[in-house]
Amino acid sequence: MKLFGTGLRRICAVVAAPTAAEMSKLVRMALRHASTVELRLDWLDSDAERARFLRWLGKGKRRPGNATFLATCRRREGGGKFVGGVDRELYWLTQAREAGCQWCDLEVETLRKLPGQSVREYPVPPRVLLSIHDFERTPDLPRSMNPPAHGAVDAVKIAAEARTIRDSVRLLRLARTSKNFVAVPMGEAGLPARILALREGSALAYAPVAAATAPGQVSLDDMIHLYRAHVLTRRTHVFGVIGDPISHSLSPLLHNTGYVARRMDAVFLPFLVRNLADFLSAVPEFGIRGFSVTLPHKQSILKHLAECEPLAADIGAVNTVVVRGDGSLYGCNTDYLGVLRALEKKLLIKGSRALIVGAGGAARAAAFALSRAGATVAICARREKAAKELARAIGGEVLPRRALRTESFDAILNATPLGMHPYVGISPLVPGELRCRIVMDLIYRPQRTQLLKLAAQKGIATVSGVEMFLAQAFAQWKVWTHTRPPEVPMRQAVLAALRSEAHSRAH
Ligand code: NAP
Repeated sequence: MKLFGTGLRRICAVVAAPTAAEMSKLVRMALRHASTVELRLDWLDSDAERARFLRWLGKGKRRPGNATFLATCRRREGGGKFVGGVDRELYWLTQAREAGCQWCDLEVETLRKLPGQSVREYPVPPRVLLSIHDFERTPDLPRSMNPPAHGAVDAVKIAAEARTIRDSVRLLRLARTSKNFVAVPMGEAGLPARILALREGSALAYAPVAAATAPGQVSLDDMIHLYRAHVLTRRTHVFGVIGDPISHSLSPLLHNTGYVARRMDAVFLPFLVRNLADFLSAVPEFGIRGFSVTLPHKQSILKHLAECEPLAADIGAVNTVVVRGDGSLYGCNTDYLGVLRALEKKLLIKGSRALIVGAGGAARAAAFALSRAGATVAICARREKAAKELARAIGGEVLPRRALRTESFDAILNATPLGMHPYVGISPLVPGELRCRIVMDLIYRPQRTQLLKLAAQKGIATVSGVEMFLAQAFAQWKVWTHTRPPEVPMRQAVLAALRSEAHSRAH
């Protein structure tokens, strides 16, 4: 028997706010999408607010008959905000039962303090979820954890900080072998496992109604609509992006939007990877079929590949990995194609003259792409050695910064981070150095960088890095799925996210 039901009922919306009015508002929002709701009574500022909120809940207005409420009044000792003792916690859980809560969450610290009695002797909600938290690490775990059929509790939850991806895998394994068990890997490294917990057998997955408030949380909206955690199975094809940092990545939005549009049984997850070996050991466990690689792993992934596309080996960077049937890894580079697709809409590349500013990984992909497509390429970078090395590799030239005031180009490409966080508002070049027909910024966040603004002011055509980002991702899609991506909704999703970011930056 599934304790909380099936499908969407296993996604538990978490409602936590300081006032009764805000809590009620969040409950109404939660019930629009979910029918299982955790009420964090400990988050309410005072007993008066708790009483007010439970009175509102008890009236049951607008509450759908099939909603399941789980009351939590976690004390500080158990990692919550409630300052009262065990007796007061039990008092509020009792009140919650009267207001209609069918479940309560009782932390192990409280259970230990009940003097020789069973929690069943208290008039708390009829169903009890025993919760065990470790906010520091994932502890040693048993092989399985099954609450006795007629014991004091109905289900057990372990919420543990995943310091590594392997930690989160251990918790998933426990979900696979246990009944009536809730696995909550915490922290950003645990986020993919948090999304996959339901398919591994966890009875619930938690998601805050309002935007995520801690690393590793996934908002209710994203859990249901972006990741579709409740419909994922062991057959679902798992893809992802690895990097550090990773929380800002738009790749999960982009690819999951595509899977939804195509009705594909696939999911794309963001993996915070500090250590490549840690991630690679978890690839079979998650059943990952392919992944995108971003900073700082684009070079270091090369030594883990069984086979590498020769062009990516020449560039010295891989941004796309395919996990083959036998588990071995094949790597290629779609940044290369991304640059070409983005630029060729505005420029006949063959026979053109291009300047690339910077000599890092993206500059190398751009330089190889343009020179192999027939352009003459010049490199200008703050480290002359790196510029010379790249120029030699592609048969191009190195230009010192002072030459930019006199030399002319068809296109100038920025491949430095100047213009993105923490350099927003800064341009790598001054207007007098923009002697060209087209300026392309590889940066896509923000979409309109200071460099592109300066170019537009001079009447120069501009290409945003978002065009490259989209084109390289579309190419990845083809590598992984051998099908064409639904470009229109994917593009719309990314542009909308960038617009909303620009809007919140402006206000
Ligand atoms: P990277 O390997 O770290 O290379 C960065 C380059 O910029 C290096 O040449 C570096 O010089 C130079 N640089 C860094 N800070 C500088 C500064 N303050 N002044 C002058 N030069 C500076 O990074 P990457 O992977 O090539 O990425 C470069 C840019 O491309 C990033 O903004 C990234 O977001 C963007 N990108 C976009 C896409 C896309 O799809 N649109 C894809 C990949 C990358 P040193 O070697 O001296 O540090």
